[in-house]
Amino acid sequence: MAKPRGYCAGVDRAVETVEKALELYGAPVYVRKEIVHNRHVVETLQSKGAVFVEENEEVPPGSVVVFSAHGVAPEVHEQAEERSLKAIDATCPLVTKVHQEARRFARDDYDILLIGHEGHEEVVGTSGEAPEHIQLVDGPDSVDAVKVRDPEKVVWLSQTTLSVDETMETVDRLKKRLPMLQNPPSDDICYATQNRQQVIKDIAADCDVVIVVGSQNSSNSKRLVEVAVQHGAGAGYLVDFAHEIEESWLDDAATVGVSSGASVPDNLVREVLDHLAERGFGEVDEVEPVREKITFQLPRELVRDLKAAGAKL
Ligand code: SF4
Repeated sequence: MAKPRGYCAGVDRAVETVEKALELYGAPVYVRKEIVHNRHVVETLQSKGAVFVEENEEVPPGSVVVFSAHGVAPEVHEQAEERSLKAIDATCPLVTKVHQEARRFARDDYDILLIGHEGHEEVVGTSGEAPEHIQLVDGPDSVDAVKVRDPEKVVWLSQTTLSVDETMETVDRLKKRLPMLQNPPSDDICYATQNRQQVIKDIAADCDVVIVVGSQNSSNSKRLVEVAVQHGAGAGYLVDFAHEIEESWLDDAATVGVSSGASVPDNLVREVLDHLAERGFGEVDEVEPVREKITFQLPRELVRDLKAAGAKL
């Protein structure tokens, strides 16, 4: 069993933001997009009174709306203001850091090559910071289509939840075409994504099967399955819940690896362990090469209202 796994600091903060907002303002609290990419988390918050919407225009004027951990383009904040919404921004601070980098390089008139998955909410939000400067590069095969104005004034940035190895492959190919391409000021792939991939690499070769708990729309969870297989696991599968594990996956397995994406609560992993124990995989060896201690404070606007209401933080 891999550790670190599951909740990262950004997801923990985003989920707590919705929970505290529900306690403080009462239901309904509207949430634009899935607060984090996990079915169980979204359904649990729905049962407590959160209403998930795709766009601000679905939120009644004057209501509370929480923006998801993946970040939003500036125009989403503007729309919220126009509708007099009380907006609480649960964007992960590590995504905000990438937005700040994008703004800064755009201000200095760079072409920005944003490595990421087309259509992912984080990429849509980051691109919205400077659409006229940012081009999406969706993996190594997209490199040939890149066009820049000045090859000496180009920087690459990335989505926070990519495969580290595949991103470096994309960068290497970009640098063959653009030798003066600048690196980001610091890693954009976040600590949680890197740590979860590192431990999967450490255990993959010893596993006949790796089961990652996570949703299909969770980028970092999907990357864990890919990394496991690339690094020697016999097979890799992504499941939302234990009951999705097919008996045939375990037929010839002696050792099963288990991990979970950054948006997955640990009770879902425990259910997978129980499921595996019932099928003879009862001995659990936890591998923890890195200790995570990072936490993030709740969004400022929420902290202010909680303090004003005398709530304990
Ligand atoms: S995966 Fe990384 S960037 Fe995304 S919410 Fe977690 S810490 Fe933040």
